[in-house]
Amino acid sequence: MIAITSNKTTDERISEIVLWIERHGLQAHVSKGEDRTVIGIIGKAEPQMAEQLRQLSGIESVVKISKSYKLASRDFHPNDTVISIKGVDIGGDQLVVMGGPCAVESPQQIDEIARLVKAAGGQVLRGGAFKPRTGPYSFQGVGVEGLEMMAEAGRKHGLLTITEVMTPEYVDICAEHADILQVGTRNMQNFDLLRKLGQIQTPVLLKRGFSATYDEFLNAAEYILAGGNPNVMLCERGIRTFETYTRNTLDLTAIPVLKQLSHLPVISDPSHGTGRRELVEPMCKASVAAGADGLIVEMHTDPDNSMTGDGVQSLFPDQFANLLEHLERLAPLCGKRFDTQKQPIPAGSWKL
Ligand code: PEP
Ligand code: MN
Repeated sequence: MIAITSNKTTDERISEIVLWIERHGLQAHVSKGEDRTVIGIIGKAEPQMAEQLRQLSGIESVVKISKSYKLASRDFHPNDTVISIKGVDIGGDQLVVMGGPCAVESPQQIDEIARLVKAAGGQVLRGGAFKPRTGPYSFQGVGVEGLEMMAEAGRKHGLLTITEVMTPEYVDICAEHADILQVGTRNMQNFDLLRKLGQIQTPVLLKRGFSATYDEFLNAAEYILAGGNPNVMLCERGIRTFETYTRNTLDLTAIPVLKQLSHLPVISDPSHGTGRRELVEPMCKASVAAGADGLIVEMHTDPDNSMTGDGVQSLFPDQFANLLEHLERLAPLCGKRFDTQKQPIPAGSWKL
């Protein structure tokens, strides 16, 4: 249920209404708009509650929400959520680009890639220290040492960092080292992990399960929000369809749909969404045109020898720099700023 105040309702009156709601054993989430405030009400309300609320002075209307997710829904929170991390805003009018390898491999590898991400104008360094692999014999990531390598590279080159966390036990150590925690597609419904992420304040990038509906995806986000962590971004990373030419099918429609249903920032991952290097740039552009708040893109200095199989979808550094140059021109046409602090380096100079 949501209660919408009239445009004359004072802050003091809103606080009184919130107390009234809490006295009835319910939770109130206040979302201030330009001239009206939406109060989202969570909990099991008595049947007469909606009518009683409607009678309170300062309330204009009361609407019942039938969706199973509440805090993630735009009904509860009409304005876009903007997550600010060390001066980078995610979900506002700024386009955010996260770039880096699938996996952290060595201090030299992540340092060099961080330098190139920064040089091209990216704001966030991506890289997995713990890798969720389909087969148990595949490279599983370098572990905790990888977290340290990444944190050091991020600090040195002035980039935020994002890394995947796979189990509740590793949430705290990952949060100590990274600015954003990624939940991978295979873990979208790992409810113990989601609950644990709800107990911290570190921003979370939640990837859509490769067979998840929008409703299931938003309910997964709701677990984190309901636990008390409001800093959640949604990531479309491709779903499984009958098509085998691409690794997954990047569901571009998800971007405007999620923006419509939810106030949370939406990030697109064309690397895993297509699995093919040559498709990453066009699908990055299409994602920005569809309204994405940011992109997460795999880039590697030596993709042919990368330690995961994701080299085939990783951009070469020159391609990454070229993409960001194009995005700088495209972003304003799509209502975004792309404030890069790029420090261009000559093409080809990245060769190790
Ligand atoms: C990744 O980002 O490298 C990754 C494993 O992603 P996903 O969970 O989307 O497959
Ligand atoms: Mn990958």
